[in-house]
Amino acid sequence: MTKGAMLYEGKAKQVFETDQPNEVIVRFKDDATAFNAQKRGSVDLKGEMNNAITTLIFEYLNEKGIPTHFIKKIDEREQLVKKVNIIPLEMVVRNYSAGSMAQRLGVEEGIKSPVTIFDICYKKDELGDPLINDHHAVFLGAATYEELDEMYELTSDINEILIDLFDKMNIILVDFKIELGKTADGKIVLADEISPDTCRLWDKDTMKKLDKDRFRRDLGEVTEAYVEIYERLKKVLNK
Ligand code: UDP
Repeated sequence: MTKGAMLYEGKAKQVFETDQPNEVIVRFKDDATAFNAQKRGSVDLKGEMNNAITTLIFEYLNEKGIPTHFIKKIDEREQLVKKVNIIPLEMVVRNYSAGSMAQRLGVEEGIKSPVTIFDICYKKDELGDPLINDHHAVFLGAATYEELDEMYELTSDINEILIDLFDKMNIILVDFKIELGKTADGKIVLADEISPDTCRLWDKDTMKKLDKDRFRRDLGEVTEAYVEIYERLKKVLNK
């Protein structure tokens, strides 16, 4: 397997073609952005940690029957994945209030929700990834109602598995975002990453934030938080 031309560069990752038409290489960068890229920086070790954390989580989800794009980790920064067309919807799940939802609703962060809250955002940088609803998604041609049903079910299953996994790590899964893609044969699979960049993770005992909010809010010890998540994950998975 050889690495070819760069197909795409995003804020935190690059994607390269390979000699296989249906496989691409994802390279994780240390670059960090927040607030629709108005805040920019770099976090030491972030690329390596997010590659390693995403690898462990996607392998675990695969074992639990969740279809993903993941094939294998190549090295510290790179992984081989199935080529997919990313569905331009961010699937956000919230188990506790935080972030943009807490702001929008005028509630404090950290309130446990009696129900699982699903938000969808339209992936469009120019618009700042606006919050939309199912009807907007169908209007935009991003997904059909049937596909949305499948996407919510998959997202909900992933939430259940991850709540349990993080709980074993003594961590509260406050909220997270996933991206889904369609493979060449039209199957909907989990793509992108699951890492402290895309989840809010709070230590159960101290409520210390162990995620990208440390970067967003200038809380310090950003690298340490990513390393801590990786270490706890390795321990519970015996890796
Ligand atoms: N999130 C993400 N990428 C985005 C927006 C949000 O990974 O472009 C994650 C974020 O880390 C959090 C969850 O989705 O775990 C909910 O984020 P929220 O809508 O509260 O937005 P934020 O406060 O992060 O802007």
